[in-house]
Amino acid sequence: MTKGTPDPLILRTKEALRVAHEGRSARIAENLANIPVASRLTYKKATNGTASPRMAIKAMCMECIGWMRVEVRDCTAVCCPLYLYRPYQKKE
Ligand code: SF4
Repeated sequence: MTKGTPDPLILRTKEALRVAHEGRSARIAENLANIPVASRLTYKKATNGTASPRMAIKAMCMECIGWMRVEVRDCTAVCCPLYLYRPYQKKE
């Protein structure tokens, strides 16, 4: 790479980001239509940046496991970085 020439890796990354963001709102709206009503607000807030970290973790876990609380509670992915933070855990 010569001086003054843009780094192709940076250009590829910027292009990948642009493509990833393209249509984001439409994809989120499409997801929302397929989420159980009880979880929609949590997902909506997590995807528009107004959720608390706790709420965002809840949205992530619920989406990960298919929107079923009991499955989040009984998650067996003990090495997942969110495992100890997941909602609906049994009180010991
Ligand atoms: S803790 Fe379990 S449910 Fe939550 S993100 Fe990780 S694997 Fe998914």
